[in-house]
Amino acid sequence: MSKKINNGPKIREEKATVSLMIQLYCRKHHNTKNELCEDCQTLADYAQTRLSFCRFGEQKTTCKKCPVHCYRKDMREKIQKIMCFSGPRMLIYHPIYALKHITKSIIK
Ligand code: SF4
Ligand SMILES: [Zn+2]
Repeated sequence: MSKKINNGPKIREEKATVSLMIQLYCRKHHNTKNELCEDCQTLADYAQTRLSFCRFGEQKTTCKKCPVHCYRKDMREKIQKIMCFSGPRMLIYHPIYALKHITKSIIK
């Protein structure tokens, strides 16, 4: 039996946010413009798949606070590096997304 793919609003928004954060990192570190480098593309695909099959679905917390953390060790290290870099910069490059997330973390 095939697993159900998450496609709720929270998962979709997280997918969009993680993509923007990886794009930002790749642009600044690997001199890319409209496409990701191979390594970042692999990570982006991996992160999207994790979200598609996240066992918590729409009830998920942030991956950072997740008690399970389903990422493979090497992928987890990469995504953490990217989040550290892109997190604070999201306010400059993607203020609407950043504000939405800040608001949510205050409310929820
Ligand atoms: S780390 Fe946790 S919250 Fe994030 S996708 Fe994996 S299981 Fe879901
Ligand atoms: Zn890259």
